[in-house]
Amino acid sequence: MNKTVNIDWSKLGFGYVKTDYRYISMWKDGKWDDGKLVEDNTLTISEASTALHYGQQCFEGLKAYRTKDGKIQLFRPDENAKRLNSSCRRLLMPEMPVEKFIDACIQVVKANEHFVPPYGTGATLYLRPFVIGVGDNLGVKPAPEYIFCVFCCPVGPYFKGGMTPVNFTIADMDRAAPHGTGAAKVGGNYAASLLPHEHAVKRGFADCIYLDPATHTKIEEVGAANFFGITKDNKFVTPKSPSILPSITKYSLMHVAKEYLGMEVEERDCYIDNIDEFKEAGACGTAAVITPIGGIEYKGKLHVFYSEKEVGPVTKKLYDTLYGIQFGDVKAPEGWIVEVK
Ligand SMILES: *Cc1c(COP(=O)(O)O)cnc(C)c1O
Repeated sequence: MNKTVNIDWSKLGFGYVKTDYRYISMWKDGKWDDGKLVEDNTLTISEASTALHYGQQCFEGLKAYRTKDGKIQLFRPDENAKRLNSSCRRLLMPEMPVEKFIDACIQVVKANEHFVPPYGTGATLYLRPFVIGVGDNLGVKPAPEYIFCVFCCPVGPYFKGGMTPVNFTIADMDRAAPHGTGAAKVGGNYAASLLPHEHAVKRGFADCIYLDPATHTKIEEVGAANFFGITKDNKFVTPKSPSILPSITKYSLMHVAKEYLGMEVEERDCYIDNIDEFKEAGACGTAAVITPIGGIEYKGKLHVFYSEKEVGPVTKKLYDTLYGIQFGDVKAPEGWIVEVK
């Protein structure tokens, strides 16, 4: 494919760009059809679809990276497939076979290859797989039909000119209930987070930190990213809770901390009253890999970790290593990289 596109890669943000092809598969009469690439970027669905009324939908987010030698690779797409299926099980939606999910991602990247940003720009092709309940239905019950779709948009580097720490406050609301859908990547959690996010932004913070919904004493999520801290004795610590969305970036960083940087790693409770156990802290997710946390406002006081201006050295090393693995500059653990060819 020799198509080219006229995009200033350095100006790309995180916004919708209509690309040429997306993959669609329909679930009807108890099974997924073969699936295909289509050019139309709109969906026509019944007005009575459960996705519209009862939030029966889930999504994923992953990226395709251009390497130095011009190849294109996906980072752990099997993990996104497994997580999509766990979200589907939670909302009584049909699962998508892992192989079919990965094949759909590969087809979409290949068909839109000219939208994969060049190596060195820090920009990537973001993939958005999702499943929605559709079809005629009025009562509260699982939909009769489902659509699985993967579309993609080129997105810019999260940090333009160096990693800059940002400050967070504690949320005035919960994003998920105890024993609710916190661990599922579903739109409802995001709808619930819009207002507390707006409250935090209005008060000058990047976003808010969600505490555990049962006791409000433990850190769970940082906006739509997972939390980690580096203790004074250099351990990588991240919260463990059934209402946290299991971030693939987080589990990858745990591996990097242990196997590449020789650090001890702990998944356990992180009490907000004990945040001064951390000398550095960060938020992690596919979008930014890591956003360094400058400080957290709690009970009217800003608790600063390493610095409000500069990223800490351990956070920087974790970031550089995982970023290097994703762009093919650092050797990846077995099975983490899927080449698109
Ligand atoms: C997607 C998501 C994350 C990050 O997960 P990654 O797999 O690392 O991208 C963290 N928290 C929430 C609430 C999410 O939806």
